[in-house]
Amino acid sequence: MYELSQLLDLAKSRNPLSEQSELISKAFEVAKREHQGQKRKNGEPYFSHPFEAAKICAGWGLDAQTIAATLLHDTLEDTDYSAAQMQKDFGEEVLFLVNGVTKLSKIKYRGNERQAETLKKMILALSEDIRVVFVKLADRMHNMRTLGSLQPEKQQRIALETAEIYAPLANRMGLGVICGDLEDLAFPYLYPKEFEQLTREVAEILQDGESYIEKVKLVLEPELQKYPNIKIIKIEARVKRMSSLYKKLRRYDMDLSKIYDLIALRIITERMEDCYAVLGVIHQLWPPLPGKIKDYIALSKPNGYRSLHTTVIGPAPEQRPTEFQIRTEKMHFEDEYGIAAHWAYQDQKKTDDYLQKKAVFANAKQLTWINQLKSWQDQIDDPDDFIASLKIDFFKDRIFVITPKGEAIDLPAGSTPVDFAYAIHSEVGDHCYGAKVNAKMVPLNHELQSGDLVEIVIQKNQKPNSTWLQFAKSRHTRDKIRATLQINKKGKGWFPFVKRKP
Ligand code: MN
Repeated sequence: MYELSQLLDLAKSRNPLSEQSELISKAFEVAKREHQGQKRKNGEPYFSHPFEAAKICAGWGLDAQTIAATLLHDTLEDTDYSAAQMQKDFGEEVLFLVNGVTKLSKIKYRGNERQAETLKKMILALSEDIRVVFVKLADRMHNMRTLGSLQPEKQQRIALETAEIYAPLANRMGLGVICGDLEDLAFPYLYPKEFEQLTREVAEILQDGESYIEKVKLVLEPELQKYPNIKIIKIEARVKRMSSLYKKLRRYDMDLSKIYDLIALRIITERMEDCYAVLGVIHQLWPPLPGKIKDYIALSKPNGYRSLHTTVIGPAPEQRPTEFQIRTEKMHFEDEYGIAAHWAYQDQKKTDDYLQKKAVFANAKQLTWINQLKSWQDQIDDPDDFIASLKIDFFKDRIFVITPKGEAIDLPAGSTPVDFAYAIHSEVGDHCYGAKVNAKMVPLNHELQSGDLVEIVIQKNQKPNSTWLQFAKSRHTRDKIRATLQINKKGKGWFPFVKRKP
């Protein structure tokens, strides 16, 4: 049922440069063995989850290390397989990726918008290598596909986290297709009624929509053939995603008749010049709607999307507004699968060699985190965007730690459990007696690291100690400690303006 060859074939077809099939095969065997006997909530063998997630990664054209790490991503947490053994079997890199994902799995989002930004930052800061985010996204994608078998409460939490954290994160990374897939998966859980109604309405429209599209094609194809210089690879119809349709409808008074791109025709060409030539042919056939011609080739969308869009008054008698999307095979490929293309091969991308090999992955060394952020920042036109703050913030001196409830707390680097306690609440700080970091007791002057899971042990009689000032990192903490010390020294009820009797 879970065939290794399936995974290897997919990995090879999407990324011929990935020659380390041995690594994938070994990870397949180990994950299968370690999860033996474990079941998922839906009754399937647990191994189905890492296997399907690894297929998702392979489909994105990622490298062998990432695919292997995806296969192994739940072993450290959920099986007896140890980090030391993983390092022995698979090397430093795979272990690093799996550790990264394990850290991310502790984070939980509870629908607090203020927290959403911190959480996104934290995910990036903890990941260090962009491939960790990919493993996490693949993991989440498969969990969303199988969300139906969980408790409704859990479904809500995970769907919300997906829609508000992971989908926007994917979008900011230029991964439009992944973002859309995640939103589509979350939509029915977050808006069940709206989803049902919309599905019904869209199905009706699509029924006659398909025959209409065929009619448009019958006019367009012979017209394009009159220009042998224009190289067309294929013409296809694409139906708008439910989640993006819903988002758009909310801006159009929920009036489906105002949505012109429910079905669009997509024309894939060989070269960029062909795109503009095709646009000319279409506009000669049918008049364009003013304001609907978009040149995302000359000026790509912030997430990297490139295409020409136009909406025309289609053939009589319907004369329907009809949208066309015109792009080269390369632009199409990058949009559909070429995830890593945004991150790697900045130079090779420009050569034909790139397209022939459909190679979208660079060697791991090229994928340094700084470069990724740089190219990311280039794609974003709003300087106030969180990336700007992200860059200053976390490279310099911030760490992100996690509460037992899965909340992310943002602290200065070098912070200790005392800083953490005061960041939660001054009452927690004042009565802080001890701390557990990743389930182990540590001294109060222990230096916290990003990704640590921190729990404070409270004792009612505990009071702040002046020695805490020596290792409290943040100013906020020191101020709080001083304030409490002051009060304790002078005794409760002390009031400076009341003269006491001698
Ligand atoms: Mn998982």
